[in-house]
Amino acid sequence: MSGLPTTNAGWLELGNDYLLRHPLRTASIIPERGDGIYMWDVEGKRYIDFQSGQLCVTLGHSHPEYVQALVDQANKIMQTGTTFVAPSEVLLAKKIAEVAPDPLRKSFFACTGSESNEMALRLVRKVTGRFEVIGVQRGYHGQTYGSASITGRGGMLRQGYGPMVAGAAFIPTPYTYRCSFCASEGSCDLRCADSAEELIDTSTSGKPAALFLEPMMSAAGQIVPSVEWMQRIAAICKERGILLVADEALTCFGRTGKWFAFEHLGVVPDVVTCSKGLGGAVPICAVVTTDEIADKANEAGFMAFSSHQGDPLLCATALANLEIVDRDNLVENARVVGGYFMEKLRGLVERYGVVGEARGLGLCLGIEMVTDPVTKTANFAGAKAVSRYCQENGLLLQTLLGEVDEDRLKLRQMELSGVHVLRFMPPITVTREQIDEAMAIVEEGVRVAQETTGK
Ligand code: PMP
Repeated sequence: MSGLPTTNAGWLELGNDYLLRHPLRTASIIPERGDGIYMWDVEGKRYIDFQSGQLCVTLGHSHPEYVQALVDQANKIMQTGTTFVAPSEVLLAKKIAEVAPDPLRKSFFACTGSESNEMALRLVRKVTGRFEVIGVQRGYHGQTYGSASITGRGGMLRQGYGPMVAGAAFIPTPYTYRCSFCASEGSCDLRCADSAEELIDTSTSGKPAALFLEPMMSAAGQIVPSVEWMQRIAAICKERGILLVADEALTCFGRTGKWFAFEHLGVVPDVVTCSKGLGGAVPICAVVTTDEIADKANEAGFMAFSSHQGDPLLCATALANLEIVDRDNLVENARVVGGYFMEKLRGLVERYGVVGEARGLGLCLGIEMVTDPVTKTANFAGAKAVSRYCQENGLLLQTLLGEVDEDRLKLRQMELSGVHVLRFMPPITVTREQIDEAMAIVEEGVRVAQETTGK
């Protein structure tokens, strides 16, 4: 079509005429094509993509074999009816069972991360006959009403959307760097887990259906719970017959250096929800559970279906994604190259007071920006300075930072959402050399932030 815009600004302007945009759509560039860890905007400028699309493109953009698998399946058949099982759906479920720890073995599919949690909510309610559900403060599980109801965030995610689904309660965030329970990081005696137990027994019937958590709380700011906390929470659940649901939307299938993030914490959940890292780019999610729970679900007459459940196109593409991750040892690559990356980020903590902590697992890493290491005041201006410098110099980071407001309550909401934590989540095919290339830009951005926002 002639007469179409050729610049980023031109497309944004045209978009304003037709798109109902929202406050998170803050990017000033319009990506046009991608190749591996790189992406180009409509003006031809190249960026290193350390946010992997929306944390989905595990193999990098347009991996040739992945694209081929998609095209091959598209040429065969893309969509069938809800009543049909697809061969690629069976093979995908089999592959998940092979890489997931026992006794996780049975899967069913839908499209998005929110939907996976919605389906898991239906499952745990039907199987247990209970309805209350526990979430974690600051946790994120999605935008549909069920998944939003177990999301431990307030502010603009809730204001104006009316009542959430009844029956949710929230336990404290296991956030060692900003713990409000223990006096210092070295003195953790799991008082937050004591509080979680008390909360469950006082604000619910004591017998909720499930506890939903992210084994690694990425959106909240790459918060990794301790093994001790996780095991204690798992024990609290077990004693009360509460099912443990791990939301592995973006940590699933290798990003953290293991197939699943929960494997770092010495527990096996009853149910796992997976999405972004499963499809690699196409919208597919899975709810994975044990034979025992699947049998109970069947006995109870459990139903959760959608028009795109197990679509051949989505399943065949996701299967290619997992086969390539497996064949090319990319889980190991995430562990090894992630370890290398983490060392570099720890170096920033040593050299710059505005970097309070570097944390994460594998290639799911972050740095928490503070004004200084003593007060640990969240440094939004610093985070913005780094991400802006990075974007201008060709590196895209996962940040949700829009305008920095001076209103105290808004700032508090921003801190609770962890938007001052810069997240680094490159495709798990990334090499050490590419980390070096990105780190040179990050360090320069941090230096600017130190000069302009550090105390
Ligand atoms: N759970 C977690 C842990 C997520 O990070 C996300 C997305 N950021 C979701 C659920 C929701 O996924 P989707 O946006 O695909 O609905």
